[in-house]
Amino acid sequence: MERLETEVAVVGTGPGGACVARELAARGQRVVLLEAGARHERLIGRAASMGTVTRLVRTRQGGLMARGVTVGGSSVVFNGNAYDPPAWLAGECGMDLVPHAEALKEEIGIRPLPESHCAGWTGTQRLLEAASGLGIELKPQMKFIDPAKCDPRCDDCMLGCRRDAKWTARRMVDQTVALGGRLLDRAPVESVILENGRARGVRLKRSRHGISQVRADRVILAAGGLGTPMILRHSGVSAGNRFFVDPMCVVMGVGREKGTWHETTFSYACEDFADLGFLVSTVGAAPVLASQLMRLSSFRALFNSVHMSRIVGMFTKIGDEPGGRITRNGKIDKPYGPRDQDLFAKGTRACIQIMKAAGVDLASITVAKDIGGHPGGTAAVGQVLDADLQVRGAKNLYVCDASAFPRSPGRPPTLTILAMARWLASTMG
Ligand SMILES: Cc1cc2nc3c(=O)[nH]c(=O)nc-3n(C[C@H](O)[C@H](O)[C@H](O)COP(=O)(O)OP(=O)(O)OC[C@H]3O[C@@H](n4cnc5c(N)ncnc54)[C@H](O)[C@@H]3O)c2cc1C
Repeated sequence: MERLETEVAVVGTGPGGACVARELAARGQRVVLLEAGARHERLIGRAASMGTVTRLVRTRQGGLMARGVTVGGSSVVFNGNAYDPPAWLAGECGMDLVPHAEALKEEIGIRPLPESHCAGWTGTQRLLEAASGLGIELKPQMKFIDPAKCDPRCDDCMLGCRRDAKWTARRMVDQTVALGGRLLDRAPVESVILENGRARGVRLKRSRHGISQVRADRVILAAGGLGTPMILRHSGVSAGNRFFVDPMCVVMGVGREKGTWHETTFSYACEDFADLGFLVSTVGAAPVLASQLMRLSSFRALFNSVHMSRIVGMFTKIGDEPGGRITRNGKIDKPYGPRDQDLFAKGTRACIQIMKAAGVDLASITVAKDIGGHPGGTAAVGQVLDADLQVRGAKNLYVCDASAFPRSPGRPPTLTILAMARWLASTMG
């Protein structure tokens, strides 16, 4: 069986893995990227991609979590919203991510969708006016989207972008390869090879192109908040506690006029509640209906689907307590305490208030609870990692994904993860 030799092995090709790999390859390091998923192309942008790219996982408590298992990770199916890194990361973890986030915004072209793009979104406009009448300001959101390539009436970001308008981490994977790096896809990693307290490479679950091991001077785990703790555990490192996921409650209702059908999800949001721990946002009708059906929220949701063109959607997303854990066999235990329940209730109430003011029939409202897509906390700095993101007691083994965050950033994390990856590469010289 062939053994590959390299300087750096990066596990996972989501934003964390792709960005740190690209940065190190640009500094002249020999990099091998290992990815469990394939480079799916054919079904991207279609509902069927839910069966290939996206994995849905249920928690023991019945919550639903989505993630992308493909080259590019969850960025292939993410909604493309960008938020600055939280200020507390600098104080609590010693990472000054601001210059890195600014450089990435410039490189990727992160900006809000222009007003002209949103003209004609009558359902969203009604929500904006209704919220404003209640003193709640829904503001345009920063996006990883190039409006020149984006079809304003598509709203399929979460099925993958078929127009290449939405940035995904695949761009950085391709840059890594162009810089001389190597990508092994369909190559799930089982564990890290540790010798005398030092990382020496990784073992694959099954051989790929005849390769069963990649020997490396440094190993960077970026398999995401669910994948990284499993690899650490299989390597004899205790991880998987302090799990958070930024869960949402998605609210659907039927109005008297045209709803948010074909209007881009998460295009306007209110961040005024962020200090309390939640945000509220608009959602297109198709994702709002899909979330109700996936979560089997109620029979009412099925009834509402008859009035498809009048469906209106909003969601609230909370920054939850890091109170979950990944069990030994990879199951997810994610209970919510009184603080989380209070935030769910406050956020859902705000959505319903706005929707009611926008003319939604209260009797039509259904809520799909506990849907999350930002897993993290499972190898936190201060618990499993030192401040340089190195695993305690395992030299040259690093973590570069949301597992490293000691608590939820309380906002969509992709820009923060990218900035952390850029920061990590800069500390490695
Ligand atoms: C539907 C949805 C919408 C979202 N919308 C937004 C948004 O609007 N804005 C935002 O900021 N964030 C959003 N997110 C979250 C965002 O996509 C993730 O937080 C981000 O992609 C995490 O990056 P990562 O590199 O840490 O992990 P991931 O993107 O999860 O990448 C990890 C990669 O590692 C691979 N992997 C796992 N285990 C192994 C293994 N054993 N061996 C090899 N490879 C492995 C996986 O296949 C995956 O490709 C969304 C997520 C989802 C699911």
